[in-house]
Amino acid sequence: MLVEFRAMRRLLVGLVALAVSAMLFVAVAQASHEPVKPYMTLAYPFDKPNPILYKVGVQGIVPAEYKTVANEAFTVWSEKLNAKGGEWKLVKSNFGEDIYIRLIYDQNGVSRFCKNFLAGKPPADNVGTRTAVFVGCKDQFLDVNDVKVGMLHRIGHAFGLGPALGGAVSVMCDSYDDRDGLCTRTNEPTEIDLYCMTKMYGADGFGVPNPHYVPTFCTLP
Ligand SMILES: [Zn+2]
Repeated sequence: MLVEFRAMRRLLVGLVALAVSAMLFVAVAQASHEPVKPYMTLAYPFDKPNPILYKVGVQGIVPAEYKTVANEAFTVWSEKLNAKGGEWKLVKSNFGEDIYIRLIYDQNGVSRFCKNFLAGKPPADNVGTRTAVFVGCKDQFLDVNDVKVGMLHRIGHAFGLGPALGGAVSVMCDSYDDRDGLCTRTNEPTEIDLYCMTKMYGADGFGVPNPHYVPTFCTLP
């Protein structure tokens, strides 16, 4: 229960920080008459040493291929971050986790996920360290690659990244949020995604969180 409370608190604090930082950024950009450029809002990073433990759970009969890509998404993040330097260690865990993502298959079609899916709407977005990724309902399944991109996006939120805005090219782009210009959703983390991770955690990885961090936004230099 304590873990859940902490996760809820992190979620709430993160949401408030996202809203405030986005408003501040727009106000500053307008006051200085500078053109708005691609940016990303940031929430709160983990404040703990390596490694960051994660777990992929399931609800309903989720085909194995979805579990495979869900776990691969964590590897994609860590490999891309490690290629930039530092030690970004993510470890799959069954005995406790910092990030928990549940894959949902809804056979009976009673969930809001299913109603949105069958209506052709984009999946609802969750921000936080405990989230769900919808894979299908009523014998209909999302494309496995779309689920992988959804995983990459949710993992970014779990790290503390907010939406990519201002025309950014990013795996953190939300197609329904076009603040300051349409962004482009990519299939993998991009330069701005990886750069903004180093703004939160420092260039040396998860082991040494930036002690001077304040919730804000980031843009590429
Ligand atoms: Zn999002």
